[in-house]
Amino acid sequence: MEKIVVFGKGGIGKSTIASNLSACYAREGRKVLHVGCDPKRDSTMNLVDGGMIRTVLEWTPYEGAIDELLVRGRLGMDCVEAGGPAPGVGCAGRGISRMIELMEKSDLLKRKGYDVVVFDILGDIVCGGFAAPLRLGFGEKVLIVMSEEMMSLYAANNIAKAVRTYAGNGVVLAGLVANLKDPAVDRAPLERFARLIGTRILEFVPRDPLLRRAELQRKTLPEIDPEAAVSRLFRTLAHGIRTMKPDRRALPSPLSDEEFLELSRSGFARKRVPARRKAAVAPMTAPASGAGPDRPSGGGGPSRSGQYRQVRGWGVWGEQDQWRRFLVDETREPGVTSNIPDVLYVKHQEMECDFDNYGMDDGTASFLNSPLKSRGPSGPAEIPLSTDLTETELINGGSSKLESLLGAHAVSGRAAIFVHNTCTPIVTGDDVLRAASSPCAKDCATISCVDYLAKDNVTIGLKLDLIREVMRSSSPPKIPGSVNLVGFPDRGYRDELISLLGEMGIEVNACLLPESDADSARKYMAADVQVFFPSAACLKFYKSHFADLPMKFLALPAPYGVRRTKNWLKSVALSVGRGGRFQAAWKRRWGAVEAQWRLLSGRAGSCRLGFILDQEGLKRLRSPHAMSGIPVLEVLREMGFKLDFMVYSASPAPARAGVRYFSTAEELHLLLEKNPSQAVYSDIFFDKRLTARGKSQFSQRCFEMGLGGAVTTLEELLGICRLPFYRRYCEYLRDSSPRPWAAP
Ligand code: ADP
Ligand code: MG
Repeated sequence: MEKIVVFGKGGIGKSTIASNLSACYAREGRKVLHVGCDPKRDSTMNLVDGGMIRTVLEWTPYEGAIDELLVRGRLGMDCVEAGGPAPGVGCAGRGISRMIELMEKSDLLKRKGYDVVVFDILGDIVCGGFAAPLRLGFGEKVLIVMSEEMMSLYAANNIAKAVRTYAGNGVVLAGLVANLKDPAVDRAPLERFARLIGTRILEFVPRDPLLRRAELQRKTLPEIDPEAAVSRLFRTLAHGIRTMKPDRRALPSPLSDEEFLELSRSGFARKRVPARRKAAVAPMTAPASGAGPDRPSGGGGPSRSGQYRQVRGWGVWGEQDQWRRFLVDETREPGVTSNIPDVLYVKHQEMECDFDNYGMDDGTASFLNSPLKSRGPSGPAEIPLSTDLTETELINGGSSKLESLLGAHAVSGRAAIFVHNTCTPIVTGDDVLRAASSPCAKDCATISCVDYLAKDNVTIGLKLDLIREVMRSSSPPKIPGSVNLVGFPDRGYRDELISLLGEMGIEVNACLLPESDADSARKYMAADVQVFFPSAACLKFYKSHFADLPMKFLALPAPYGVRRTKNWLKSVALSVGRGGRFQAAWKRRWGAVEAQWRLLSGRAGSCRLGFILDQEGLKRLRSPHAMSGIPVLEVLREMGFKLDFMVYSASPAPARAGVRYFSTAEELHLLLEKNPSQAVYSDIFFDKRLTARGKSQFSQRCFEMGLGGAVTTLEELLGICRLPFYRRYCEYLRDSSPRPWAAP
């Protein structure tokens, strides 16, 4: 497949040349896709009958296969236009990026099996969006249109810089086309300019009234006069580009702005002595040896098994019903694991992006309360690397920062790199896969770039793939009666569970996740049974990756509260044939805490805890799997707390014991003020909707596993209920933000 990208200054003749090239290829019987990437959407005007076509940005469903936007041109080629926002608003570059993403997602180019794809792109490359067609798997041969006018050469020089930037994706500069304004002009300066920047002029196109006539008829020249001189010229140009071998093209050597201004004075007659040494434009990907003359590695793409997945999936931020949501609508994966020794996990983001992840006890800031505090014996979970882009870096493009971060962490030889790409660099058009595939990463087996924090937690699946590889490559001797714990939060009370199992003669062979080190993975196969932590977000991944290993697996309700801890321990003991030792061990441990538990739960009887729920929230609360595995309701009832439910109902509903309904923000506001509960549940960190109404706040974060954990949880919740702070000072919180939850 030939993938040709036409660039050049505005009005220079790009669309004329691109559409005539497409016409030549189509007339030769080739399967052609012509892609207009200009918000003016005029590129395909001369190829299709019936005026301007519907653009990608006008496409209302904006999802699914892009095929329905393809318009069949007169000569049989497929045509598509990116389109763009109204002049003066929005971001046209983002529109082009978006179209490329949609093409990628539906695998359009390969699926349709085109022989030739021609991209016709607006003016100069002004930002990452306009360079999106130079991403991996898209444009390959860049054709720059210019004239004898100085500013068109200046634009050409700039475009050559972008070609250099994207060379790692296999992009080459095919050459220049001089679309002359004055046919009698001296062509020598143009040829010297081409040599200086390391390329050549493929054709000189004269000004030809026939082209204007064709344009008036909304046709291409080969259609109205195939034997005209310019038609023949276009055919030669089309043939030349198509048959050109990309690996023979040298990396262009664009001039610095200063050099350009200096050398253009003499019609590019003077030599460029200092420039070569100064390396006017440093290639972002350093040339690798053996990849042809002066070419960076790649040619056919930078990564051997690198995969790029575009995954969408937004949470509830800013949605219409946000004012009445107190439960986060999705469970996130446990502690991001960057501590697999030969895996590098990098987030390409502004720092604020991290705030919608659960915060850890290591002090990372978060909008959410985390049930996954990591303060166990293995210390806090390692914080993934982050590019922490500043505004200036976003404006200038963040790819180089990502590249240098990867370079600084010596990624060469690692098993994998994960780059988590977030909203802002997506909008500004960073080509993250190119940056992640820079030479420092050239020996990595896998390079994965995942967009957004996907709802289905793609990254955990990718990580488990790697862990599984390590597991399968080792065969440790079996340890009878031993178990693996998968996904159990690595807090102090996990140790209690491990020691309790120990008393029953059950060895915990390996803990995996949040641990993800190679040692734990290598030991894994020695156990008899694997026990999965039942969090909805992760359980399906544990099952898909580990359930088929030659080892029994259990996905028991998680050991929170006294009863569930007891059941969990008993089931694990039975699974490895140690059931006989359960009773004695349990009696001893429970005996040690029973008195304190009874005393505390007596106090809980005079405390009330509240929940504010809509139908979704109700469903989630009833299913421990959806609450990070924690059976919140069951544990609170076992502890003896009185519970109040404030439930959203679109139409007024009669109150029931312990249940009150609301349908507007005002009603909820009043309900909360009258409601006797001392603390109310919210996953949002410092939820002012509650504190400004005098309520303390509790969340999944209070819940700890095991027997000792149950006592600690109970103590913590009692403390929260007793805290008088918000009851006393809520009016000050209200003053600073009178209606923090006003419905939109
Ligand atoms: P761009 O796509 O670069 O903005 P166009 O291809 O739309 O530029 O060309 C601008 C105008 O110049 C069009 O009206 C086109 O017909 C005219 N034009 C371009 N090249 C020639 C040429 N060689 N001879 C005559 N007219 C030309
Ligand atoms: Mg155009």
